[in-house]
Amino acid sequence: MKITQLLLVAGLLSGTALAVSGAPASKSWPPVRTAEEFARINPGEKIAYVCKECDSVTVATLDSKDAIMQLCKVGDMIECPACKQSYRIVRLGPPSKGRSISEIRYVNQEGKECMFIARVSE
Ligand SMILES: [Zn+2]
Repeated sequence: MKITQLLLVAGLLSGTALAVSGAPASKSWPPVRTAEEFARINPGEKIAYVCKECDSVTVATLDSKDAIMQLCKVGDMIECPACKQSYRIVRLGPPSKGRSISEIRYVNQEGKECMFIARVSE
């Protein structure tokens, strides 16, 4: 019984540690998925690189509109600030009827989505 409780506490503690690194608010951080949404990010605004490969959340600010729009430049590469892996910026599928806005995805060589950008709201 005591062991179970200890494990529970450990779990809670690691949850707290994760919170400090920035993950707790991630639920309220909307992912940025389209070029239109990237265009709405202002220079100096906080964004988060959420990498599923290394399980990291890196908060950063970009100081120019060009740097922001670079994040949705289809065909280019984007690097995870934490694990330094490069992902290709792709547009998700061909736009179909009823879906005029195509979404941006960051994928690895196998085409698996590995990272996304979120707006950091405080
Ligand atoms: Zn990473």
